[in-house]
Amino acid sequence: MNILFLGAPGCGKGTQSKILIKEYKIPQISTGDLLREEIKAGSSLGKELQDIMSSGKFVSDELVLSLVSKKITQDECKSGFILDGYPRNISQAESLDALFLEKNISLEYVFLIDVPFETLIKRCTGRLLCNNCDYIGNMDRGEKIDDKCDKCEKGILYQREDDKEETVKNRLNVYQEQTAPIIEFYQSKGILHKMTGGNDPAELSSKIASVLKAGQ
Ligand code: AMP
Repeated sequence: MNILFLGAPGCGKGTQSKILIKEYKIPQISTGDLLREEIKAGSSLGKELQDIMSSGKFVSDELVLSLVSKKITQDECKSGFILDGYPRNISQAESLDALFLEKNISLEYVFLIDVPFETLIKRCTGRLLCNNCDYIGNMDRGEKIDDKCDKCEKGILYQREDDKEETVKNRLNVYQEQTAPIIEFYQSKGILHKMTGGNDPAELSSKIASVLKAGQ
C-alpha cells in the first residue's frame, strides 16, 4: 500500500503517518526527518541544510529526489510506504511520477489534511518534540521546553528551530504558493481524499482507516 500525505506544516501528517506505520507495518518516508538526520550527522551538507531549513525555505529538488529515490528502492519499502513532506511543488510531483513509472510503483492514496492556517500557526509554534522518541507534545497542553518526556521518560522536550513564529508564517506562505497547486495534480488522477483535520488525531485516523479499508 503506497500512501502520500499532503497538507500544510503542522496539519498532522507526521502524527497520522506514525499511526499508519503501526497499523500497516510499512515505513514512513519523511523528507523533513531525512534532512534533519543529515543535519544531526554534522556534515558540511548538514550545515548548509540547517541555514535553509531554519529560514523556512525549500532545499533543492535534486537533493530531496535523491533521498526519496534511495529510500523507496530499499527492501523495507517493498510492501508499501507512507510519503510525508514530499512532493512539495509541481516539479517534485512530476519527478516522483517519473520515478514511480521507472520503478513500476503505483501511488494508491493521497490524503490531504485540511486545517485552517490560524490553527496551524498555534499548533506549530507550540509544538515540542522529544529528543529521544517519536513523542510530539504541545505547549498548550502545559508542556514546556526542557521538560522530561512523559512517553519515554528519558528524553527532553525541545522546539524545532523552524517552528518559531516568523518561520512558521514563512513556511505557510511557501506552502500556499508552491505546495497547494499539487492538490489539483493528484485530484486529476482520482486518488486524492480530502480530510478535515481537527484536534483529535484518533478521529481523523479512523476516517483515514475507513477509506483504506473500503479500497481493500
Ligand atoms: P517538514 O519536517 O516536512 O516540515 O520539513 C522541514 C523543512 O525541510 C522544510 O521547511 C524544508 O526546508 C525542508 N524540506 C522538507 N521536505 C522538503 C521537500 N520535499 N522539498 C524541499 N524542502 C523540503
